[in-house]
Amino acid sequence: MPGLFPIIEDINSLYRDFRRMPPVEVSEELRGWSYGQGVVAPPGGPLLGVSDITGGFCDRGRDVYLRYVKRVQPRDNYLLQRGRLIHETWTRTIVEVKRSIYNHGLDASIQELANTASTLKEKLKAEFNAKHSLVPEEERTWLVDRIINEGFSTYASSLERQLSRSRFLEIDGLVAATVPLLTEYPLNGEKIGLSRALRIDALIPPGLILELKTRHPRREFELALVGYALAFESEYEIPIDRGLLMYVEVDPPKRRLYVRPRIIALGDALRSEFVERRDKLLELILYDEDPGVSSNCPSECPYIHYCRGGE
Ligand code: SF4
Repeated sequence: MPGLFPIIEDINSLYRDFRRMPPVEVSEELRGWSYGQGVVAPPGGPLLGVSDITGGFCDRGRDVYLRYVKRVQPRDNYLLQRGRLIHETWTRTIVEVKRSIYNHGLDASIQELANTASTLKEKLKAEFNAKHSLVPEEERTWLVDRIINEGFSTYASSLERQLSRSRFLEIDGLVAATVPLLTEYPLNGEKIGLSRALRIDALIPPGLILELKTRHPRREFELALVGYALAFESEYEIPIDRGLLMYVEVDPPKRRLYVRPRIIALGDALRSEFVERRDKLLELILYDEDPGVSSNCPSECPYIHYCRGGE
């Protein structure tokens, strides 16, 4: 299974595993390209983000009601900021590795990557001082160092391997083979009632969707993969039967990151559940129905200040 920063060998082995797994059962009516009729067709109303439907905060959907109907501003907290810090560091690491290889051409070397890594660390630490101030400085620092070190060392070895494969490489192919991910890949989900500006954490060509999750595993995150798969299918008419959830768990006292990749089969049951949730949330918004306060509010919910009076 791939690590935090997948390389081409991980992807090849994943696709080999997929061919040995039983096929995923997906009905035609639950493919994203069936948006013109049947269950996937959007019922109308605002275009929702995948994270509105699968945020995993509120089992009653009150967070979505408060956001779209009552226009209540969400409030940030430590866990949300830490999650964004990990996401941003991961994405910027991948982008900067690619930029460094493009800048130095086929002469790119491990030393140049190391220089780029140091510059990126300083830049992100300065940026995150203000942006993620709810995360203690010491934790911000080790997280940034840890993620950048892992990304640059993984792709430095990958670069060396790719360079030694052939004398006839061109720069674009070299970058794609060294870092086989496209981060923040944009999708237009309008045809299935989702936002026109969806972004998946990464697309691994030819058609594997990767989502990075920094909270405890939950079904909603599997549903998020389905949402993106439906949007992808509606836009490109290519089937997406499996996705990759990359769970990242942080242990601050031990300064450890635990990475647990999980392959998710995007079959009929998950697809139906996603569509039902979409429709239920749209109903709350269209008919101005307050679903009431959950009995199970997670402390990291960004609306807890509103629903629970400042808890
Ligand atoms: S605080 Fe509770 S009721 Fe309010 S949105 Fe969050 S989970 Fe739902």
